[in-house]
Amino acid sequence: MKFQHLLEKQINELLPEHLRNEPAMFKFLNTVNESYQNLENQSSEQELSNKNDRDVLSKIIFREKIFNSVINNLKNGVLLVNEAGEILDCNDNFLEIFNVTIKREDIKGQYEKDFFIKNGSIFDNTKSFISGVEKILQKKIPHFDELFRNKKNEFYERDYSPIYYKGDYLGHLWIYTDITKKQREQDSIIQNEFTQRQILNSAIDAIIIVNEEGIIKFWNPQAEKILGWKFSEVYDKFLSENITPVSIKEPNDKGIKKYLAATTKKIDAHLNEILSINKEGAKIYIQISTIRIKYHEKNHYCSFIRDITIKKNYENELAKQKKFTEDILNNLPADIAVFDRDHNYLFVNPMAIKTKETRDWIVGKNDFEYCEMKGLNNQSAVERRGLFNKAISTKKTVQWIDEVINKNNKKIYILRNFYPYEEDGEIKYIFGYGIDITEMRSVQLKLNETLLDLKNINEELEQFAYIISHDLQEPLRMVKSFLQLLEKKLGNSLDDTDKRYINFAVNGADRMKKHIQDLLEYSRIGKKTEEVDDVNCDEILQEINTIFQLKIRETNTILTIHPLPIIKALRSGMYHLFQNLIANAIKFQRNDIKLHTVEVGYTELDNSWQFYVRDNGIGIEPKYFERIFILFQRLENGKEGKAGTGIGLAVCKKIVEQLNGKIWIESEVGKGSTFYFKIPKHND
Ligand code: ADP
Repeated sequence: MKFQHLLEKQINELLPEHLRNEPAMFKFLNTVNESYQNLENQSSEQELSNKNDRDVLSKIIFREKIFNSVINNLKNGVLLVNEAGEILDCNDNFLEIFNVTIKREDIKGQYEKDFFIKNGSIFDNTKSFISGVEKILQKKIPHFDELFRNKKNEFYERDYSPIYYKGDYLGHLWIYTDITKKQREQDSIIQNEFTQRQILNSAIDAIIIVNEEGIIKFWNPQAEKILGWKFSEVYDKFLSENITPVSIKEPNDKGIKKYLAATTKKIDAHLNEILSINKEGAKIYIQISTIRIKYHEKNHYCSFIRDITIKKNYENELAKQKKFTEDILNNLPADIAVFDRDHNYLFVNPMAIKTKETRDWIVGKNDFEYCEMKGLNNQSAVERRGLFNKAISTKKTVQWIDEVINKNNKKIYILRNFYPYEEDGEIKYIFGYGIDITEMRSVQLKLNETLLDLKNINEELEQFAYIISHDLQEPLRMVKSFLQLLEKKLGNSLDDTDKRYINFAVNGADRMKKHIQDLLEYSRIGKKTEEVDDVNCDEILQEINTIFQLKIRETNTILTIHPLPIIKALRSGMYHLFQNLIANAIKFQRNDIKLHTVEVGYTELDNSWQFYVRDNGIGIEPKYFERIFILFQRLENGKEGKAGTGIGLAVCKKIVEQLNGKIWIESEVGKGSTFYFKIPKHND
């Protein structure tokens, strides 16, 4: 049974495939088809038959009914036009498509061209719609599947079917079919594919799709970047030929085969970290997750790959560092434990707990649980908790000494610390460590004893020096004065030699007196009779300048004193220091020059004041730079009138060192000397 052409087209377009052969539907279609045929047959018979009018009329009515029912039941918009271009009929769908409110009866007799020109504006491209109509009407040949879109974004297909009877053109049919749904579906398919491709290509992950044989079918740009091969290089090649390092190729191939052979229909999304290679042959770590997808009815495997080489290398490095740190901690000769903020153990080293089981057991537990496990009194745990809390609340290291009886029944001393470790200002961990200080402690105790002994001896010595120098002064004064009395009494009876001898003895007594006085001064330094205070060095130098005025004039010396600071020191000490150095600078002058200079000044350093006393005197050989600061050490460079006791610089050294400072000399024989001394700014 051949369905009429138009009907057949409608069936193919609108009727779902499975319904076409449905018996009921088939029957219905046959009926419609027969009606069409009857219509044609009867119209041809009409001319031949000359039956009575009633008969003819009833047939016409019948045909019209059939026609009406057919076109009204069509989903398309149908317009029937005669050979003169006048509208014969249309269905309601047609009126609806063109959005016209006039009735079907009223449209009859209108010229189709007028209608289309008037109403063609409902379509997007009105001009081509109307020009299309004109062209089609000129040609009068069937024209199908022309696509138009109206302003409501609906899509219509326009078909044109001319009607010929025995070679004569009788008119034509316009059929408009709403294909919006179909169009949308098609668009969405195109869009989906387009979007999918875009997604695949712009994904951060490398995406590789292989078929069931493991042959590469898709490879996105990121895969090219991570793995190095261009898609064109790997397309249609075995995956295992490329990205698997030789070392693991065999097990990997087996794995892939097993994976591909798996029959399960559900999606697999394994997330694995594996070693791979890139095009250069370099090993790279990748994270791969694979899903099974159907494409053209066949299983494919889509893998998402991420390069985790940096992360992996970092992890490996971290693991190495962790091991390194643990090795150190495990081998240190100290008890070490790390606690969380709640005093639970996170780590203990073998020195702290010997057995591995206990070490593993204690992680996450505290001292109380440990005591309970060991059946110990928890007194020590209570004490430690107190110290721990103190470290937490003060954010400072808490230190204490534990007395412990060791396995040899010997008392040992452990110095323990809770050290709070902070991150971003918050305590993260508390490090506990303990060191056996038994040895150190006994050494320290001995040292303290020795220091005490030394202190006592020193004090005794100072006392001795003081007493001796004090007590010797009187007999010495007596020796001198009786010698002078003797000289006076004997008067003229003394010859020159006698007088010279007595003179030597008196001079000797004087020198001895000077020695004793210097010794007395030296022994006095360091006695805590004075407190460290603000000392105005300018003032001190003014006083000294006054004292030395006579000497300066006698020796033709220019003493330049630069402004000096106020420092923390002992006033008398600073006085002696400057006085001794200036006295030496004036004393040890060169005879071969007329103008002698002495200059006093300072430089401010970060943590100290650095003073200098500079002269253009006789200078000192470098080999004596150390010796001159030792008690009673004098050099042979002093000539007549430069006699001294060799105590001055020793006194200077003692004064400077008492303030935790330092004294030294820079000098060149024949050019002069500069004595430097440095005093710390803070002497607490
Ligand atoms: P004294 O001045 O009583 O001899 P000091 O301890 O003050 O003792 O000095 C020790 C020695 O250092 C001096 O004998 C002298 O030889 C040398 N000396 C000190 N100051 C100077 C100086 N400014 N120039 C050259 N030599 C010096």
